[in-house]
Amino acid sequence: MYKIIDGKEVSSFIKSRVKEEVAVLGEKGIKSTLAVIIVGDDPASRVYVNNKKRACEATGIVSREYAMTQETTEAELLELISRLNEEKEVNGILCQLPLPRHIDEKKVIDAINPEKDVDVFSEVNVGKMWIGDYDVASCTPKGVIELLDYYGIALEGKNCVIIGRSNIVGKPMASLLLEKNATVTICHSRTADLSFFTRNADVIIAAVGRKRFVTADMVKDGAVVIDVGINRDENGKLCGDVDFENVKEKCSFITPVPGGCGPMTIAVLMKNTLAVTKKQNNV
Ligand code: NAD
Repeated sequence: MYKIIDGKEVSSFIKSRVKEEVAVLGEKGIKSTLAVIIVGDDPASRVYVNNKKRACEATGIVSREYAMTQETTEAELLELISRLNEEKEVNGILCQLPLPRHIDEKKVIDAINPEKDVDVFSEVNVGKMWIGDYDVASCTPKGVIELLDYYGIALEGKNCVIIGRSNIVGKPMASLLLEKNATVTICHSRTADLSFFTRNADVIIAAVGRKRFVTADMVKDGAVVIDVGINRDENGKLCGDVDFENVKEKCSFITPVPGGCGPMTIAVLMKNTLAVTKKQNNV
């Protein structure tokens, strides 16, 4: 019998812990502030930014939004980031991706002071994660680890297969699983015989971006299946990368979409904002 991993419950739990700590900082006269930059009018980015704002309100973190037009130049954006880097009251900075095509995303990511990089996209912070010496971890992969921890799912010695090798999900996921002493395989679009790997996996983490990509025949009995994917099905409804209805019967644990990994990313973002605030204030 499978158990559904409830990302809403775990994310609420994490946010309530962050709220408590933010309140304790407040008693010491320390505020935690997150600056969120959005460039252009991409509807999905707007939804994400609004969700981040709501999470800040729920945790007591001050959110500042910097909405810039689609025509904003790279120089203008870099100038704003440089100003926010200098501003003492701003603890965390994130720039919602994707950016308009005329702006170089890498330049923008590199411009954010790593001490304020709560998305953990900067070269410095990614490197720190890989050597296991870090204060903040990549939001989505760390959210997956939080889910597994909350449900007491042990990772030591487990065969974990990640499908997807992006800088945002697949690669940092591998780093965090290694830290948990799992044996990690990263599969990707050029992997030969993907099922060979997934059928031997104790834990499968799917981050592909294709609906119903992971089917029941790819999963061994009793596996834990974590679905990071966010897609739309034929009816426009949100769905993940896993054929949930058929795969769930084979699992010990499985995440739904929505309500699995999705809410965790923002909960970890709040956790990261708190962590950088504490570090900057020597708490
Ligand atoms: P991406 O497009 O950068 O990476 C997709 C990966 O899938 C690639 O590494 C590619 O090699 C792999 N892939 C593609 N086809 C494959 C195949 N046939 N076999 C094996 N691997 C294959 O995407 P991403 O940014 O890593 O995101 C992946 C999914 O996760 C998307 O649906 C995205 O929306 C979702 N996502 C969710 C959250 C969240 O908060 N829950 C955060 C980030 C991304």
